[in-house]
Amino acid sequence: MDIGQSNLLHRALSGELPVVSAGDGAWLSDDTGRRYLDACGGAAVSCLGHGDRRVSRAIASQLEQIAYAHTAFFTNEPAERLAHTLVERAPEGFGQGRAMFLGSGSEAMEAALKLARQYAIEIGEPSRSIVIARDMAYHGNTLGALAVGGHRRRRKPYTPLLIDTARVSACHAYRHQKTGESEDAYSRRLANELEAEIVRAGPERVLAFVFETVSGATLGCVPPTRGYFTRVRDICDRHGVLLIADEVMCGSGRTGTFYAIEQEGVAPDIITIAKGLGAGFQPIAATLASQQVVSALEAGTGMLANGHTYMSHAVACAGALAVIAAIDEDSLLAGVTRLGERLRLALVRRFGDHPQVGDIRGRGLFQAIEFVANRRTKAPMSPRLLYAQHLKVNAMAEGLLVYPSQGCVDGEAGDHVVLAPPYTITEDEIALIVDRLARAIERTSAVSKAAE
Ligand code: PLP
Repeated sequence: MDIGQSNLLHRALSGELPVVSAGDGAWLSDDTGRRYLDACGGAAVSCLGHGDRRVSRAIASQLEQIAYAHTAFFTNEPAERLAHTLVERAPEGFGQGRAMFLGSGSEAMEAALKLARQYAIEIGEPSRSIVIARDMAYHGNTLGALAVGGHRRRRKPYTPLLIDTARVSACHAYRHQKTGESEDAYSRRLANELEAEIVRAGPERVLAFVFETVSGATLGCVPPTRGYFTRVRDICDRHGVLLIADEVMCGSGRTGTFYAIEQEGVAPDIITIAKGLGAGFQPIAATLASQQVVSALEAGTGMLANGHTYMSHAVACAGALAVIAAIDEDSLLAGVTRLGERLRLALVRRFGDHPQVGDIRGRGLFQAIEFVANRRTKAPMSPRLLYAQHLKVNAMAEGLLVYPSQGCVDGEAGDHVVLAPPYTITEDEIALIVDRLARAIERTSAVSKAAE
């Protein structure tokens, strides 16, 4: 297809992108017939790979039946069934909870923050308005979500427009656990830091603590340390602070359980999920409220103060229901843990001793490789080298898609790539990912060494 002068406001205004034309399993094809092994699902979106007919048929069938009716006038069956399905799977405390459906992860995070604020008002604690978030977290690009996020480069141009957010350290053992400090002691130190921040802000003023259960694109698939979330839950309970788990990227089965927080043995008050929920077939995100939050609304105004025109869209919900049905039908979650371990071991075997690979980390089919200039000191590469960006381009030249990110150390420096292949990835395809990535890394490293 000859696009000519594009009128699309692209992420980059210069340069050309291939035109995607087809998808099949873990593979995407462009209109020249070139095939790419999709090892990242865009940004951890395409959890079923591409072209699952069960999902497209469910979407088509819903479209034929009824596409849209405003939620102030009607409810619809797919939205009701999806809410039931998600609440049923949610951790303890969500028994009579409820879910709302939106169009993107950012919207789900906005809804989560507003819901927390409404909860505080409903229970007669309107002084609570301060959100505490973690450094180097990403919660979305709308103003509220961007404000609580700690992605310095993305926040920078908009800083004057952003609400104040209190901030504590990320839970990131590779970079911040001290030599000689046990994992338990590190978790305790971070939890103490959170409590100190709550006390400093004034516990009666603190609304919520927001976090990515497994940090996603900004830090690169960093799982929490043992005991961290149990302590955080305990502290927040003592001070009446809500816990908001942003699982937009790491949820929907990506780490081997439907909600990543299930593996931490605690229940948050609000959970958001998005990317894998729609798996790319439809734009959809969910904000789940625990029974306690819902009960407060029921006992108070009995209304949700935050609405959107397209919320609980029947077609998007029908697509998400079909995605979850496919995950269940093919028993994919057990495979995520097994295949994720296989991927991790293959990466460690191939790149574990590479002079520019500092860390290989993640959970399930959510793995990242962080690149460094010096493995011993963990010194990052110069941001000027744009290592991760070049690696993405070189991987694409090898027919491989990986998700690059820069700034994981201090907002500017620190390069990593995220691998988030579909839950349907085969062992042969995992081997191919590692082979192609190895060639792309060699090419990128050779150029970056020459440029140093
Ligand atoms: N939260 C997390 C953890 C994310 O990774 C993202 C997107 O990458 C968002 C929120 C925002 O989602 P969206 O881009 O769909 O608005």
